[in-house]
Amino acid sequence: MKIFELLLLALSLYYFLIFRPKAIKEKKRRQEVEKKSNPQAQPASPVPPAAPIIEKMVACDFCRVRLPHSDAHEFDGRFYCGPAHLKLLNKEGFLGSCKQVLSNNYDQRPENTVVDTIVIHHISLPEGKFGGHAIEDFFCNRLNPKDDPYYPTIIDLQVSAHFLIKRDGEVVQFVSTLQRAWHAGASTLMGRERCNDFSIGVELEGTGEVPFEQKQYQVLQQLIQAIQVQHPISAIVGHSDISPGRKQDPGKYFDWQYFQKISQIPEQKFPFGLTAR
Ligand SMILES: [Zn+2]
Ligand SMILES: [Zn+2]
Repeated sequence: MKIFELLLLALSLYYFLIFRPKAIKEKKRRQEVEKKSNPQAQPASPVPPAAPIIEKMVACDFCRVRLPHSDAHEFDGRFYCGPAHLKLLNKEGFLGSCKQVLSNNYDQRPENTVVDTIVIHHISLPEGKFGGHAIEDFFCNRLNPKDDPYYPTIIDLQVSAHFLIKRDGEVVQFVSTLQRAWHAGASTLMGRERCNDFSIGVELEGTGEVPFEQKQYQVLQQLIQAIQVQHPISAIVGHSDISPGRKQDPGKYFDWQYFQKISQIPEQKFPFGLTAR
């Protein structure tokens, strides 16, 4: 019996100390070989969790609400929460849906001035030619005198308008509507002098010789609509109405009747009537 027990003990010792460790080692070695010869069989390493995509937030230029970049409406490098705010003037007097080319030709309106008048002008540079960027250059005092024989005669005039509507309907803003742009010069409206103080100047790209484009009337209507949200406009006049004898624009080709019809602006807001002049 004692011998049997000793034998059992020896066998157990052999199994646990020699045979089992060897078998485990061998099993591991075989697994290693298998892995190397068939890499596809490897259990797929767990995919690291994707880093959360942090989207850039932008602020609406009109109401300052913050929203993800991909949800915002972008115009000329500015962002809007929706098309409604894109169409309005912001608190600083800048329209959303237009290109800004900022001019230094402006100053402060007199204190407590109510902006209640819109003055319509026409301009073309070089005279009689459309397109290009000479009007922008003129209002920003960077016209090249060598580009046209007429330019040296106007290069020192420091003038501007709040808005320009080009032949294709593109709108450019030069000055905030809260500031005084220099577009009307010596002028009088119903006994009130210096119309620049209380008006917004809108230039239509055009001459006194050809009709304006339909698109320009449409855009002018939208622009005046946007302006009226911010400023209580009571008079829409031509430059020639407030500087008679000195100025002819917007001229006989500006169709006041047609403009009133499409804009549905009440006739009493046209103090000089709707006849061509
Ligand atoms: Zn907004
Ligand atoms: Zn004018």
